[in-house]
Amino acid sequence: MALARDVLQKKYRTTTLLEKPVRQYQEGTLPNQYSLSPTEKILVDLIRKYGEFSKSDLVSFTDFSRTKISTCIETLLDKHIIVVNDVTEYTGGRRSKKYSLNGDFGLVAGVDIGATSIDIGIADFSGKLVARYTEPASVKDGPIRILGRICTLLEILIKENGSELHHLHGIGLGVPGPVDFSVGLLMTPPIMPGWDHYPIIPTIQQWFPSANIVVDNDVNVMAIGEMHQGAGKGVDNLIFIKIGTGIGAGIICEGKIYRGSNGCAGDVGHISVDHNGPLCHCGNRGCLEAIAAGPAIASRSLEAALAGKSPALLQYYESNGHILRAEDVGKASKEGDVLAIEIVRESGKHIGSVLASLVNFFNPGMIVIGGGVSNIGDLLLSSIRQAVLRRSLPLATRDLQIVFSETGPDAGVIGAINLAMDNIFVISSSRSEQATE
Ligand SMILES: [Zn+2]
Repeated sequence: MALARDVLQKKYRTTTLLEKPVRQYQEGTLPNQYSLSPTEKILVDLIRKYGEFSKSDLVSFTDFSRTKISTCIETLLDKHIIVVNDVTEYTGGRRSKKYSLNGDFGLVAGVDIGATSIDIGIADFSGKLVARYTEPASVKDGPIRILGRICTLLEILIKENGSELHHLHGIGLGVPGPVDFSVGLLMTPPIMPGWDHYPIIPTIQQWFPSANIVVDNDVNVMAIGEMHQGAGKGVDNLIFIKIGTGIGAGIICEGKIYRGSNGCAGDVGHISVDHNGPLCHCGNRGCLEAIAAGPAIASRSLEAALAGKSPALLQYYESNGHILRAEDVGKASKEGDVLAIEIVRESGKHIGSVLASLVNFFNPGMIVIGGGVSNIGDLLLSSIRQAVLRRSLPLATRDLQIVFSETGPDAGVIGAINLAMDNIFVISSSRSEQATE
């Protein structure tokens, strides 16, 4: 695979690529965390991000000398972290070897705990998915049952793959609530009774003592997935907005997830868009979530349908056993129902107006729209786009792309796998002096 020219043209400042270990544990106390020198870490991250790299690619992409890169490549080959691929490319008459991560190094699992489902994916170190599984589950059943079920499923999937439990080097989990990432704990999650401060990591660690486990908020995890394997590949500044039962955003800043001081950056669902609007479950009035998320769309539509304003919506309501969902409103809007179109447009306008403020504030290169409600389709996207363009500064929208998620229902799992991978290779503090070379 030839590296895209636009990628090569950009020279990364090595300082932006250096990432501190995010979890505040003493080095060496976590299982399966591999200490690398700062240079090795940068090379591993680049190879991970773009799949394959030749030495020339690495030289043109970093500030490092060819000698330094050659030394690091040898060390990484010795550690079996990377492998030489059979594919070679001729550059200027010379054969050029390509390096990629060693798939056989081990396995990494990504778990996406949704309000009503468990999604699991297991990948090898090259990022290739070797197992994928989904089943319905209510997060309200509490951590003991849900985590027990997840561990059982992981064990089954690993064994079905012909592997042993100790081959699992990392587990990333996305959860639908606010997480203090530094300690891996949920903090008063509104839709997860029994999960507040629950020790998720030690619980799973008992089943998988060899795995390095990380927990993050589901929207952050989806943003990470989109950056690594979706529409956001190669985009350094990105906002991923999830529109589902709630509304939240994941922020990618300079190629890394931005969590803020306490882990709740991106909680845009509770930005007020109408001080006199409907009451939100957070206790305030007129939050974006209370006006434009799935339940808000459904309840406004139901009200209108029952008032006889939309025969199409009433028909969906009756044929669904007296339930009207946001996706039905989407379907009715595609069929040309005037009221459904108006409700979708209105929601898009509110979401777009909040995004416009974020665009002016943060100047992202891309906004990715995901979550169940995004299935409503192009009408929602065009309404959001219109509102963003109308309300943002022209310079901020000159190169701005607003697109749907490409990872779709896999966003959480792909993101959780990448989150786990992000935390397996850490910079050894004892070797950090090499960063100044
Ligand atoms: Zn609120």
